[in-house]
Amino acid sequence: MTTNRFRRTRVLVTGGAGFVGSHLCERLLADGAEVLCLDNFYTGRRETVAHLLDNPRFELMRHDVTFPVYVEVDRIFNLACPASPIHYQKDPVQTLKTSVHGSINMLGLAKRLRARILQASTSEVYGDPIEHPQKESYWGNVNPIGTRACYDEGKRAAETLFMDYHRQHKLSVRVARIFNTYGPRMHPNDGRVVSNFIVQALEGEPITLYGDGSQTRSFCYVDDLVEGLVRLMDHPDDDIGPVNLGNPGEFSMRELAEKVITLTGSSSRLVHRPLPEDDPKRRSPDIDRAKALLGWSPKVDLEAGLEKAIAWFKRLREGEA
Ligand code: NAD
Ligand code: UDP
Ligand code: UDP
Repeated sequence: MTTNRFRRTRVLVTGGAGFVGSHLCERLLADGAEVLCLDNFYTGRRETVAHLLDNPRFELMRHDVTFPVYVEVDRIFNLACPASPIHYQKDPVQTLKTSVHGSINMLGLAKRLRARILQASTSEVYGDPIEHPQKESYWGNVNPIGTRACYDEGKRAAETLFMDYHRQHKLSVRVARIFNTYGPRMHPNDGRVVSNFIVQALEGEPITLYGDGSQTRSFCYVDDLVEGLVRLMDHPDDDIGPVNLGNPGEFSMRELAEKVITLTGSSSRLVHRPLPEDDPKRRSPDIDRAKALLGWSPKVDLEAGLEKAIAWFKRLREGEA
């Protein structure tokens, strides 16, 4: 469903050439916005937004958010940050700078413009959670010195900055705690579980199950997430605090692998690989706040979403996506 909710609004999307960002840019254009997509192409690519370049309301700017930027906009979605463990761990210092310096710059920009700004935070702020499912009131269980810390602690510091700019400078902020999201336009070498499993299944290669595959995640289809993000940005109350956005359906990685094998009709077998350091054992969002505040809940179940993602990866292999 689209609306005219962003008609004539100038919207900056940082990380706009990434997986989620490209879908968000597309949605905002459909809702009438003028979209400035800013990206340093660290994990994102021009190709994800190539189909938008002809739209006169769309502009693509190469820029790294760790450096100041002076543009004129009404709304800011701050998505810039690599999201896949293999990519955010490749240059951990840059990952932390992106969350901390990047957030300071985008908050400074929002403060100068008195623009509303939304941070793409993450379920990783809950770390390897002791409470289950995770509510926004849970403070989390994060290893501050491990190999995931550059991402987790960066996102936690970003949340602190967002809340402090709100308290200290009366800035209008929104914080979305996004749980694992998947769908078309994930990079085939992204390294996250859904794209890995689908690509491996389609190639007939072994499916790499880390650990014993009993760890769980809850997967949200990207269109559902984007709907949640635009509703959160639109919410009129500046004091709502962080809101979980995710699909509560919880699956083990073994179940996910089996579903992907069934849906692709693949002959791939499962192979075990070591469980990465600090890999969270269980994860599922409590979405009562999103339901109550935004009237939002995900509509696409895992099977239907996987089918759409698989269809896209097939087209990509055939050179059509
Ligand atoms: P992605 O890696 O596909 O996209 C991130 C984008 O940010 C890329 O286009 C990348 O080039 C860009 N980027 C990285 N560092 C930058 C910098 N310093 N300056 C400018 N651009 C930079 O990841 P995604 O899945 O699209 O995630 C988007 C956002 O949502 C991220 O902030 C991520 O932490 C958050 N998030 C995503 C998920 C998920 O499951 N997809 C879950 C929780 C949170
Ligand atoms: N900033 C920016 N664009 C702007 C305004 C600010 O990139 O339009 C950056 C600027 O580099 C600054 C940061 O945002 O370092 C934080 O700005 P703020 O006004 O909060 O802090 P100050 O400038 O006082 O350090
Ligand atoms: N995973 C896996 N095989 C892979 C990639 C990931 O079993 O090829 C597991 C990983 O150990 C984790 C889960 O899948 O338990 C989700 O991993 P992902 O990197 O997608 O996201 P995150 O760990 O950040 O939730």
